[in-house]
Amino acid sequence: MGDAASLCRGRAGMYGGYLFLTRNRLLFEPSKFGGFGKRAEIPLDSIMKISSEKSLIGEENILKVSTPYAEYGFMVNDLQTWISKLNALRKKSADTRYCMYCGSTISATANFCPKCGKKRETDAEPYR
Ligand SMILES: [Zn+2]
Repeated sequence: MGDAASLCRGRAGMYGGYLFLTRNRLLFEPSKFGGFGKRAEIPLDSIMKISSEKSLIGEENILKVSTPYAEYGFMVNDLQTWISKLNALRKKSADTRYCMYCGSTISATANFCPKCGKKRETDAEPYR
């Protein structure tokens, strides 16, 4: 799946480009004419949370993707399709959890992160 989209940087602005969804990655390619755009590559298994958000003009068309490292907002044309496709691909690894401190994968039954040793916060909001 691929669609024209804009990567939003909070109120600092946004830049246009193209958003791609592959079997294991979400990719944002900035348009060549954007000048200062940066490419974003998000492995699906690093995504902790997907949500939607209203844009500044009040239209619900921002796809929010949270990873342990960053939070992205993509303005897309067909938000519901993006969310359902992303969720369908992520279901395969639904039993995997991620450490909110270092981002390592933790098995669903483990209480401590195997990498940094911190206690797992089960239903905590992602670290901001
Ligand atoms: Zn950890």
